Amino acid sequence: MIHLIVKPPKTAAERKKRIATILARLDAMYPGAVCALSYGSPWQLLVATILSAQCTDKRVNEVTPGLFRKYPTMRDFAAVGQDELAQDIRSTGFFNNKAKNLTGAARTILADYGGEIPRTIEELIRIPGVARKTANVVLGTAFGIAAGIVVDTHVQRVSFRLDLTRNEDPVKIEQDLMKILPKEKWIVFAYEMILHGRAICVARSPKCAQCGLYDLCYSKDKTA
Ligand code: SF4
Repeated sequence: MIHLIVKPPKTAAERKKRIATILARLDAMYPGAVCALSYGSPWQLLVATILSAQCTDKRVNEVTPGLFRKYPTMRDFAAVGQDELAQDIRSTGFFNNKAKNLTGAARTILADYGGEIPRTIEELIRIPGVARKTANVVLGTAFGIAAGIVVDTHVQRVSFRLDLTRNEDPVKIEQDLMKILPKEKWIVFAYEMILHGRAICVARSPKCAQCGLYDLCYSKDKTA
């Protein structure tokens, strides 16, 4: 491959055009990108997302079918002892903390929201184990509500390399992305970036020769 020198955009119009091109390319590269976690209800998605912290979606999807058979309802999660639940989710890592958060989340949603998953970020982040990332996954994926943008490790890394943010803190990255991306793209953008970060723009030695954004990228991590 001929190494292409890519220059950063200079004007606001150039920046806007570059972002529109990135979004269109991501759509073309990852059609139908969705959350990779398996779930049958908003509550199950919330459980799966809590379990996915520091764990692969694949492993979570191996654990949740048995988990939801044993605990079919939110009340079952609220009633189980933390030690028993911790053993059931052991293979997802950080199991004691996750068990505490899951029982806490079930009890809070039952007590404060009548068993219905709330539909605002402000309410969701008051639930044990739920920070902005989890809240955005649940709102965007289960309800189609674009309240923010999911920023996981892949979104974080790829956004930085594409110069869509110069921040490293996920909350600030989310704010940067919300300022420059059209709201109707917030949900799908994160899932496309996660797929891109897993397949091509990997943490070590990104596969730039296979990247559909190659001619738009001027990252110092870019490989010829
Ligand atoms: S060109 Fe390389 S560094 Fe840039 S987005 Fe593509 S894979 Fe990532």
